[in-house]
Amino acid sequence: MMTIVQILFLFSSALLQSEQTDTLALFHGSRIEKKIALTFDACPSSTHGGFDSSIVQTLVDSGVPATFFLSGKWILKHRREAKMLASVPNFELGNHSYSHPHCMNISDDSVQHELQRTELLLKNISKTSSRLFRPPYAETDGRIKRIAQNLGLVTVMYDLASGDPDSTISRERLVRYVVSHTRNGSIIVMHVNGRGWHTAEALPEIIQSLRHKGFVFIKVSDFLAVHGSANDFSVKKKNR
Ligand SMILES: [Zn+2]
Repeated sequence: MMTIVQILFLFSSALLQSEQTDTLALFHGSRIEKKIALTFDACPSSTHGGFDSSIVQTLVDSGVPATFFLSGKWILKHRREAKMLASVPNFELGNHSYSHPHCMNISDDSVQHELQRTELLLKNISKTSSRLFRPPYAETDGRIKRIAQNLGLVTVMYDLASGDPDSTISRERLVRYVVSHTRNGSIIVMHVNGRGWHTAEALPEIIQSLRHKGFVFIKVSDFLAVHGSANDFSVKKKNR
């Protein structure tokens, strides 16, 4: 049984660690402007490694910019869809590793290989290099962020997990949760690989409600373009 002092010590050292390491990652944009970014992960899950085209249709129909983080394995299975995403001017593509490993459990070389392999695939479909990396399972630390940075990639986390991989969350709940938790500068994560159970159904109302609240959708790189680097927006505490 830990004493209160031991618990407090563990808590404060965890904060200290995140203060040191979060300087290379982007969790959100400026809290001053009503700009927000929708992001969609395409993880290569064997059971839900599909593609939810109605999400893309909604984004295109509504003229909403979005950032898609594609895993290399998903690209290989969905080359046509990946090329289509790359062709939409309002969209940008980022790197979501190759095989979606727990990066903190693998060597530097393996992490580098995961990122480089997907960079090649992204370059092949979009003719440009990606600048953004979202770690699988949102698991990262100073080592992973530095490896990404050395490859020219900014680590992009999020401050609002929609919860869309949870099949028990209804369309209504998803809408309510996302709309009520979005703040200025929010980076919202959802899934485009069929793992977001009600994402497509919820998205039109999410977009409409957030616009009604005055939010403007931008791409993640637009947060970086204005201020130059992730360091400007780094937060000392993930849940702040
Ligand atoms: Zn993923």
